[in-house]
Amino acid sequence: MSCHRPEAAPVALDAHEGRDINPFALMQPRAPARTPGELKNGARVKANNVAPQGVYLPNYNVLTPHMRSPEYVQMSTAAAITLGIMKGRMYRCACTRCLNLLLTYPEGCRANCAYCGLARHREAERDYADRNFIRVDWPAVPMEQVVDIVARDGEKSPFHRMCISMITHPRSDEDTVSVLKQWTARIDPAAIPVSILSNPTTMTREDVKRLRDLGADIFTVALDAATPEIFDRTRGKGVQSPHSWRKYWEILMDAREVFGARKFGAHIIVGMGETEYEALSLVQKLVDLGGHSHMFCFFPEKGSLMDHLPATPRDQWRRVQLGRYLIDYRGARVERMSFDGEGRVVDFGIAQAELGEVIDAGIAFRTSGCPGKFADDISACDRPYGDSPPSDIASYPFQPVKRDIGRIRRQLRIVERQNRQ
Ligand code: SF4
Repeated sequence: MSCHRPEAAPVALDAHEGRDINPFALMQPRAPARTPGELKNGARVKANNVAPQGVYLPNYNVLTPHMRSPEYVQMSTAAAITLGIMKGRMYRCACTRCLNLLLTYPEGCRANCAYCGLARHREAERDYADRNFIRVDWPAVPMEQVVDIVARDGEKSPFHRMCISMITHPRSDEDTVSVLKQWTARIDPAAIPVSILSNPTTMTREDVKRLRDLGADIFTVALDAATPEIFDRTRGKGVQSPHSWRKYWEILMDAREVFGARKFGAHIIVGMGETEYEALSLVQKLVDLGGHSHMFCFFPEKGSLMDHLPATPRDQWRRVQLGRYLIDYRGARVERMSFDGEGRVVDFGIAQAELGEVIDAGIAFRTSGCPGKFADDISACDRPYGDSPPSDIASYPFQPVKRDIGRIRRQLRIVERQNRQ
């Protein structure tokens, strides 16, 4: 941190319970409840053993079919609408540019991450394929059908990228390879590149190499937590989950060597108790390593162990979003930024004119992730409303227009204050 400015004018507080940051002490997950033995490991779905019949739309009133990757994958509601297998419209978005495919098994993910709707502690309450994840349902679709549609659409496909999301399951390494092979057998990975959202806990360096050799373009690691303490609390021992900060960094560094500069990155969820300084220091570290950060605003996912906690106040989120964009794409550095005694950004360390120009361009406030075909700093992975409701957008899945920028400027109160100086 270049300097502390405790004497700076106090930042105006968010209307939400008077807070403008989510402090560490507040963001304590609930302890997971015990799952009865007879409901563990997808036992209900396996006992019913209903044969799947094509596309399955999550429905809590019917028996969940017995579906497994690599024959089946799940996809976000936005991807299902874009692919044309589900009807629906999205607020101010015609489509999504990323086809995110999630591995699926009756046993589900064996991890217990506190902020995640897919976590293991939900076994008794809801079958895996019916669980909400980043605020939406995830329909299950035969992989063959997915490939058929995208191959048939050819150059007209709306997708700029495909992403395989691994989960923590003993089969996920092998099945990721199978899904990737099925894709590249029919679809040119140069036309629609593939990203891997990895599960480091079960992976080795050889797995990372194999995915690169089979044509994967970008490899990402969902650190999610910005510090080792928050990692352990939300996805390690704190919630009886198997992940470790050390193993995640080991695979991230493998990815750096195997995939190379600008072809690896890490996910960070903002607002789980880290300071803005800690979040942006991690962003800086990733850039210095040659990688990218993909950011998510914490949202209390229904049914998760953190669903009682507040979403990230918009001013905290906007400051980190803006700082991250400046570091990733404008050559700004965290050491040149200034922070107050609680780690809030009070100065972004660049000229006011440039700051104003970046804010008005709006790209900094769009969803971040792996790039698509429009520009390097515009993510294909737009995840419509994955981290907020449309009424209070955190990550814009479309280009913000003038009225959006006005709202963002009001949320970035610190910048307005600087502009008055
Ligand atoms: S490993 Fe991923 S899918 Fe599994 S609980 Fe954690 S965040 Fe959710």
